[in-house]
Amino acid sequence: VFMKRIFNFSAGPATLPLEVLTEARDEFLDFQGSGMSIIEMSHRGGIFQKVHDESMARLRAVAAIPERFDILYMTGGASTQFALIPMNLARKGGKAGYINTGVWSKKAIEQAKILGVDFVEVASSKDQNHNYIPSPINVPAGLDYVHMTSNNTIYGTQFRTLPNPGDSKLVVDMSSDFLSRPIDWSHIGMAYAGLQKNAGPSGLTVVIIDREYYEREKEETPSMFRYSTFAKEQSLYNTPPTFQIYMFGLVLKWIEKQGGLTAVDAANEKKAKLIYDVIDAHPDFYLGHARKEDRSLMNVTWNLAKQELTDDFLKGTKAASMDGLKGHRSVGGLRASIYNAMPLEGCQALADYMKDFLKKNG
Ligand code: PLP
Repeated sequence: VFMKRIFNFSAGPATLPLEVLTEARDEFLDFQGSGMSIIEMSHRGGIFQKVHDESMARLRAVAAIPERFDILYMTGGASTQFALIPMNLARKGGKAGYINTGVWSKKAIEQAKILGVDFVEVASSKDQNHNYIPSPINVPAGLDYVHMTSNNTIYGTQFRTLPNPGDSKLVVDMSSDFLSRPIDWSHIGMAYAGLQKNAGPSGLTVVIIDREYYEREKEETPSMFRYSTFAKEQSLYNTPPTFQIYMFGLVLKWIEKQGGLTAVDAANEKKAKLIYDVIDAHPDFYLGHARKEDRSLMNVTWNLAKQELTDDFLKGTKAASMDGLKGHRSVGGLRASIYNAMPLEGCQALADYMKDFLKKNG
């Protein structure tokens, strides 16, 4: 059959490796000779159980997750975690910390407010439309946790290293850079991400949580809103998103085949450089949004100095088999999301297009 795959720069759900999609397609109707699709099987059956357990073991190995953490498979996206975190991790009479690096951080803060959790904003990049990462960050002592967003999908900024939270631990929204680079777990108490950017289809939220947090849970918290419920039952307390878990396993296998997170990180660096180099070479035409030293390897954001050409730019990308390049409304202009599965050729095609567009319109 004729198949045309374009370069998809969408911020999420995002492009997945062709090898992964092909493998899923090939075994979709009959999973390993069972005569059933993986999505038709009981989550309590042996076949699915193996897929489930193997994906968790593979994640632990790929991301070098220390023993003190549990891996939980939840639903509701990162947005549900914004509420579950203050609900479960804030102590009665305690105080939480939040780093505000944009829309997603703010949404997390709003949930703490709704729940009446006392918190302090320990740093913010609001004064410059979140085009930088605040540094250094001074965290007061005694906080229950410090929440942060490691990669700011909308603005194209990224913490290159995680900040030091003092005597507290970081709770990290890794939605848009999960599994894109090795993770230093030393300051982390919890990390979480939806699959839909680097790791699979939407619908599964991966939570990696230090077991010490369960003792903070409150009596009035319903079972499905407690982390310990998922931990006790290996995330099979209720029906999990079986298709997403299966797909996640395939993506993890693909990451292993690339050489693991160090190799993926190096590839991501090379990819991002192709686009940033064009922006840097033509600063009067392409206006990068993020401060250079805080630039994301996942989302590249820029405006055109001649803003009125933005629609033309987008139209041309469609004709060149590229899609998903329109910027988020908070920044405007253009955004290229170049997660793990975006091939180098995609970034090269975009860089070439940008040079060509400049020649015609500069
Ligand atoms: N956090 C970040 C950094 C994101 O980029 C997004 C989605 O784009 C979210 C949270 C929201 O995730 P979800 O839609 O899975 O709730």
